[in-house]
Amino acid sequence: MNNQQDQALIFELSKQGRVGYSLPELEVEELSLAELIPSDYIRREEAELPEVSELDIMRHYTALSKRNHGVDSGFYPLGSCTMKYNPKINENVARIAGLAHLHPLQEEETVQGAMELLFDLQEHLKEITGMDEVTLQPAAGAHGEWTGLMMIRAYHEANNDTKRTKVIVPDSAHGTNPASATVAGFETITVKSDENGLVDLEDLKRVVDEHTAALMLTNPNTLGLFEAHILEMAQIVHDAGGKLYYDGANLNAVLSKARPGDMGFDVVHLNLHKTFTGPHGGGGPGSGPVGVKADLIPYLPKPVLVKNDEGYHFDYNLPQSIGRVKPYYGNFGINVRAYTYIRTMGPDGLKNVTEFAVLNANYMMRRLAPYYDLPFDQHCKHEFVLSGKRQKKLGVRTLDIAKRLLDFGYHPPTIYFPLNVEECIMIEPTETESKETLDSFIDAMIQIAREVEETPEIVQEAPHTTVVKRLDETTAARKPILRYQR
Ligand SMILES: *Cc1c(COP(=O)(O)O)cnc(C)c1O
Repeated sequence: MNNQQDQALIFELSKQGRVGYSLPELEVEELSLAELIPSDYIRREEAELPEVSELDIMRHYTALSKRNHGVDSGFYPLGSCTMKYNPKINENVARIAGLAHLHPLQEEETVQGAMELLFDLQEHLKEITGMDEVTLQPAAGAHGEWTGLMMIRAYHEANNDTKRTKVIVPDSAHGTNPASATVAGFETITVKSDENGLVDLEDLKRVVDEHTAALMLTNPNTLGLFEAHILEMAQIVHDAGGKLYYDGANLNAVLSKARPGDMGFDVVHLNLHKTFTGPHGGGGPGSGPVGVKADLIPYLPKPVLVKNDEGYHFDYNLPQSIGRVKPYYGNFGINVRAYTYIRTMGPDGLKNVTEFAVLNANYMMRRLAPYYDLPFDQHCKHEFVLSGKRQKKLGVRTLDIAKRLLDFGYHPPTIYFPLNVEECIMIEPTETESKETLDSFIDAMIQIAREVEETPEIVQEAPHTTVVKRLDETTAARKPILRYQR
């Protein structure tokens, strides 16, 4: 880090004896460290801490925070991740003391309001997905996938149908699908996409048999395309005795327009931290609720939240349950945010989400199509893929284009995924961006396409304006330097 933007780091500012606090004289008798802390825990050497003023500390952390890129600081078109605006009213509600200060081990009669909120959220999600029951336990999308597959497994086992060991996953599925199937103990069978980017029905018919436990469908698929033949697929898989799993992480593409439950799906997971504006990224808590049709209800993770004459309570009496998948009952704070979002948007607002997410993606796709290759020339849903093939012929890789976007203040799109598109660039503008923002990003992409033709080295050597330049991608992942070294 040797750039004019780089400020002196906190260790370099250290002056012996300078302190960052001022406290009044102690008015009580001072206890010795040995009286306060068991001797094993007392540090034997001086801690090497910088000695700086309170103001220096403030500037240090503020400077660090500005080096991060978030949805609140700029456009973030990361395909498949739905980096849309998270309304701040969600945060206000999640911080209401009566919700924020609850303890998960409180007696049920003292948390009836919180349980009502969760119950009501489940009811809304049932309505939105067209499923018969929902659990809020899973902590993320992939966790929801695993939970759903474990239920499917329990269902087949309860029917003595134990030879169903295979899960079919299209090659345009999200990467977590085959991973979850493997972790749940299934063998993954891949079906190919056809020339239109949709599941090849003939290939599907070929791989479905009496060993099929389920088909997992990401819809829209990772190319941003709506799977047009869902009813036929459902028929093929159900006729063979398999179950249908809907990866609904990107529900902003169909919300209030179409419901997995009506398409014949038996299980669906949602990502509340995508579609329903839970903040995500940085490994924070998420929420991946799972909805099921009636015949899978007995296998839901326990406890289930029920409502009876006395109010709400957690029912543990589910002999066929796959068991608990998360301590307590899901990530409560994220569920509060999602509930707030659904209630503030209302049915019409949620319809707008889909219409604008799809409109924005199609607008951007059409405006960029003259400058980058468009592998699937058809309407997209919430996201679309371009290919950097044309630019690669001129010696500029998609990675270079992504790095160059940093100079314009944008988070780059998802690149090199899905794998079935060469030099893939996967863009998800989301519904919360203005036309001006979309246009500015389009202008940057067009300028980069021109640079590739006229001054490719500008792109190849990007980024030029960031604190950290090109990283060695392998060492950055395998041997990250995470602490300041003198
Ligand atoms: C994000 C995503 C997932 C995984 O969700 P996590 O919460 O990251 O585990 C699964 N499927 C699709 C289609 C996704 O976009």
